[in-house]
Amino acid sequence: MQCNNINSTGEISKCTGCQFCEAVCPVGAINISLDKEGFYKPIVNDKCVNCGLCKKYCFKYHAVDFSQCDDNQLLCYSAKAKNKMVLEKSSSGGVLTVIFKQLIYEGYKILGVGYDYEQNISKYYILNSVDDLYQIQGSKYMQAKSGEALLNVLSSINEKCAIIGTPCLMYTISNYLNERCAREKFVLIDFFCHGTPTINLWKKYIRKYGDKFDSIFFRDKTYGWHEYSNTFVSGNKSITNKATDDEFFSLFFDDQLLNESCYGCKYRDSLSQIDIRVGDFWGNKYDHDSEGVSAMLLTTQKGRDIFDKIKEQLYFEKVTFNEIVASQAYKKEYRFNKEIRNKYLKMLRQDSYDIAQIYSKYKKDLPFTKKVKMFAKNNLKRYIPKNLYMFIRRAYHRNNEER
Ligand SMILES: Cc1cc2nc3c(=O)[nH]c(=O)nc-3n(C[C@H](O)[C@H](O)[C@H](O)COP(=O)(O)OP(=O)(O)OC[C@H]3O[C@@H](n4cnc5c(N)ncnc54)[C@H](O)[C@@H]3O)c2cc1C
Ligand code: SF4
Ligand code: SF4
Ligand code: SF4
Repeated sequence: MQCNNINSTGEISKCTGCQFCEAVCPVGAINISLDKEGFYKPIVNDKCVNCGLCKKYCFKYHAVDFSQCDDNQLLCYSAKAKNKMVLEKSSSGGVLTVIFKQLIYEGYKILGVGYDYEQNISKYYILNSVDDLYQIQGSKYMQAKSGEALLNVLSSINEKCAIIGTPCLMYTISNYLNERCAREKFVLIDFFCHGTPTINLWKKYIRKYGDKFDSIFFRDKTYGWHEYSNTFVSGNKSITNKATDDEFFSLFFDDQLLNESCYGCKYRDSLSQIDIRVGDFWGNKYDHDSEGVSAMLLTTQKGRDIFDKIKEQLYFEKVTFNEIVASQAYKKEYRFNKEIRNKYLKMLRQDSYDIAQIYSKYKKDLPFTKKVKMFAKNNLKRYIPKNLYMFIRRAYHRNNEER
């Protein structure tokens, strides 16, 4: 019999690790596990009855529909939560907590990403209470295991639910719900997506701080929004590491260790799958803000209605689409050097190297221009007056935005 599952040939793009195939398989024939590079990939077991459902929804087999949302529907805002506690604990302007709070009051359940402290991985959880929202605050820069939580949501598509996730996952969920005429019950939210780095990077990095944590504050604002950090807490010990010259952030943002599907990804360029897109409002406009500002794109009437209900809880300003996307991974392609990528993915798997050794070797392998850029990024601030630093940064951002 011809293979009709996600292992059949004819793929037109790479597996994003979205894990939707696992959730949609009616007989539990798909297990998701980390491949040797540290990305979630599906394995089909012998329970498969060749029904073809997984292949039907997997975008490896479909050209992406680039149709954007209706331009007349699109509204763009910068926004930050008025509630200081919410703002402080959120990675950007805290708008997601404000949105989810409102939706919980309206009877929605929330599917969001928290952290599993037993396994040290990011994971999807279903939340029904405003008091639990703190569990999903903070950007975990890695693929999130969707497992039971997504399965649960898909098995009750007649219940109101709001989901936050990467554009690739939201794209598939939206197609699935549209086909079942169940989209109305859902609020779908994604973010401007830089991509997901190998989980092996995270695992190697946290070993520097221990293996069991009571809490981790992801991209926290101890030193401000622009100078974000990770804070690791175990017992009465707390360590905060600034992003500047931090191994995890530097290796992630240098783009060599992302999932292969993230290079040239088209899902993050599409806005048709969601009601709201959020992100950090990077760039010139809020360079002086240290509390955090969110970018919000409202792409449907449902998105606009939600904004109308929460706007009293936000400081906001109407902005243009171009102001938001100028500093975003939107319609931008990343490239990677295959040799470098393979070399460091391999080192991350080897116990003999710790993260400091890997990072130090990595910096030496950078091409000259990148070395200068990284040195400037990591050191400029330490050696020149703050005003001069801000002047250079603003000029850099302005230049980027004009391009
Ligand atoms: C992998 C990744 C890449 C990103 N890339 C960009 C980017 O290039 N540009 C940009 O402007 N913003 C990016 N963001 C979004 C940004 O970091 C903030 O999450 C977003 O602005 C929301 O901010 P907040 O203050 O409202 O949210 P917070 O209250 O801090 O909450 C973060 C939200 O993100 C969800 N979340 C956390 N980790 C994950 C994950 N691994 N997968 C799916 N959902 C998750 C949580 O459920 C939570 O709702 C990225 C986020 C992630 C997770
Ligand atoms: S892209 Fe998603 S649905 Fe397709 S095989 Fe990979 S994990 Fe499964
Ligand atoms: S073809 Fe059907 S049974 Fe087989 S793995 Fe896919 S969804 Fe499951
Ligand atoms: S860059 Fe694209 S493929 Fe990668 S996680 Fe984001 S949306 Fe998915």
